[in-house]
Amino acid sequence: MNNCRICGSLLGEPVYSSGGPSISSVRTVIDVPLSAFLCPECSHTQKPALQNSADYYDKRYRISLTSKDFDQVYDVVDGKCIYRTDYQSEVILKTTSIAAGSKVLDYGAGKASTLKKITAARPDIVPYVFDVSEDYMESWGEFLPKDRQAAYQIPESWNSTFSLVTAHFVLEHAEDPCEVLSNISQLLSPDGTLFFSVPNLLSNPGDLLAVDHVNHYSFDSINVALARANLTLVSVDENIFRGAIICVAKRKASPTADTRRDGGKCKDEIERIAVFWSRFDRLLEEAASLYTNVPSAIYGAGLYGTYIASKIAGRVSCECFLDKSPHLIGGEHMGLPIKAPCDLPSNIRVMYAGLNPNIARSALDLYKTRGIENIIYFDDGES
Ligand SMILES: [Zn+2]
Repeated sequence: MNNCRICGSLLGEPVYSSGGPSISSVRTVIDVPLSAFLCPECSHTQKPALQNSADYYDKRYRISLTSKDFDQVYDVVDGKCIYRTDYQSEVILKTTSIAAGSKVLDYGAGKASTLKKITAARPDIVPYVFDVSEDYMESWGEFLPKDRQAAYQIPESWNSTFSLVTAHFVLEHAEDPCEVLSNISQLLSPDGTLFFSVPNLLSNPGDLLAVDHVNHYSFDSINVALARANLTLVSVDENIFRGAIICVAKRKASPTADTRRDGGKCKDEIERIAVFWSRFDRLLEEAASLYTNVPSAIYGAGLYGTYIASKIAGRVSCECFLDKSPHLIGGEHMGLPIKAPCDLPSNIRVMYAGLNPNIARSALDLYKTRGIENIIYFDDGES
């Protein structure tokens, strides 16, 4: 990669690279290596686009289509799961003011569960959906007439009509995010609002491993990308949605680049994350060599656990995943059963911490007393 997708600056060597296989954000294994490049100017981190990416999102991405009710767990509070789309719809209603009767477009909608929930709370709004796949049409048909659904292409008649466009976790996938933002900008009415979310690499360092997340935004790169699309940032929040940056932007009359710089703080943190993952790869390799024939389990069937399995599966005696999500328990992932943590098989001696390192120790330390010889942590503490 030669140039930053956002500001055009020249890129150097990758800040992190790993041999294949890699994993996707929807926990699939893709047999390609991974390289991430960090922009010295705007601190945008980028990866090469996946080959055949149009086909990947059209036919293979299929987020949350496993079953009709499947949704990603956002959080577990007092044993109760809070689902991502429930929380997303709450956040939108909280952070934007939607006038009565407004047209609202969910851009890159997936099943459009979030928009469906917003519409249930606000029956006065007029919902529309768009995605680069027709896999979701059955879900869309549950609450939308055909003329408010668009797959692959957006009708020209939709230009300048929307009071609100939402793009939940879309821009991290885009090969040309500035073009996507320009397209969205065209769809907004003159006083229209764009609400979008992207993963926050700084609070969710595992995102660096998702080979289909080809963009990791900094505040600087968000500002530059919006300015290039004739949009301006109204608010940015990195606390309201764990692991994400939530942005609200408006159209503006004349584009002027936001020159705000964070003084290299973001860049330093990304470099630290890259070092963390290089160390993670090394620790995982050492543990896999040391415990090859010891019955093992991976705690967490999400992104971290999938990554661990992708690197050690077939080489160590790994018997199962453990996960708290009721939608995953009882199922299979990567050829291994997924069990509830309380059903940890008694023969397991080693556990790999497949959770965000920030929370792994507090979640897993209690298992140390249950016949587990070692829990392999990947944080900066002792493992
Ligand atoms: Zn840049």
